[in-house]
Amino acid sequence: MTYDETNIFAKILRGELPAKKLYEDDYALAFPDIHPQAPVHVLVIPKGKYISAADFNAKAPPEELTGFYRAVAHIARLMGVEESGYRLICNIGPDSQQMVPHFHVHILGGKKMGHLLAASA
Ligand code: AMP
Repeated sequence: MTYDETNIFAKILRGELPAKKLYEDDYALAFPDIHPQAPVHVLVIPKGKYISAADFNAKAPPEELTGFYRAVAHIARLMGVEESGYRLICNIGPDSQQMVPHFHVHILGGKKMGHLLAASA
């Protein structure tokens, strides 16, 4: 599978679609999910062209891997959920219903969530 340059998050990265930037550095960009599932629902995407977490974890150089995952932790702190706790979700491929084929991590928090897949307690 090749990376689809027309995906929504590629357009956000190129500045062709708007997004409220919550955080940005050399490795990551964070913005609110357009359909929030929790009081805090932030998407974090790498700057590079990776289809999914599987693609990113297999192909990204160590500096990009470290930079990205450190940014995720930093953004959770910025969003105020480090102490209360949060959930990271990354959907990979068809069975997960990944909708956007650019790797993204969902940070969900700000409320008590149900165990694992349940959205509410
Ligand atoms: P996934 O199912 O993991 O691919 O999730 C994709 C997420 O992207 C969904 O939660 C959508 O609500 C979100 N989304 C789609 N378009 C936008 C957009 N333009 N800005 C912010 N979030 C979006």
